[in-house]
Amino acid sequence: MAAASKPRYVDVTNPSLAVECPRCGLLTARFVDHCRNCGYKIWPSSEMASAAFKAWRDADPARDEASRFDLVVPGPPVDTSIDFAARAHTLGIHLFPSSNYPFTICVGMLFLGLGAIPFATTARIVLAVIGGLIFLFGVVGWVLVEDVQMFPAEAPHVSGEGHH
Ligand SMILES: [Zn+2]
Repeated sequence: MAAASKPRYVDVTNPSLAVECPRCGLLTARFVDHCRNCGYKIWPSSEMASAAFKAWRDADPARDEASRFDLVVPGPPVDTSIDFAARAHTLGIHLFPSSNYPFTICVGMLFLGLGAIPFATTARIVLAVIGGLIFLFGVVGWVLVEDVQMFPAEAPHVSGEGHH
């Protein structure tokens, strides 16, 4: 933006995004043409308000993330991510590993469920055996293989506590 087109009446040294409305006295966005509370026209036009906002924003790199509709300049982004696995470990909560084995278990349960339908006895036994094998494979894979891989030191720790 050329310097000549910048509105000269904007006080870019004032860091505030909010301003007191001259009519109602309540805080409103400084670079929106109408007061948010009473509708008083603060700027002659929305274009002028926007141009003033751009001039104000470009005066300081810290204002890059600001919006003319906000009342405060947003601060730096805060990292709110939490390591739930670490927290669960300190709290003594056992988290099951994220795994695809629950799908296997569900497929096994499907066949077990089919085995509950009164078909011919042979078909039911075959379905129950297939379902049971898939089900057990899923449970063993999830609880005994993946879980032990994820928490290798947990088993001795728990048995150690049991002796106290
Ligand atoms: Zn007002």
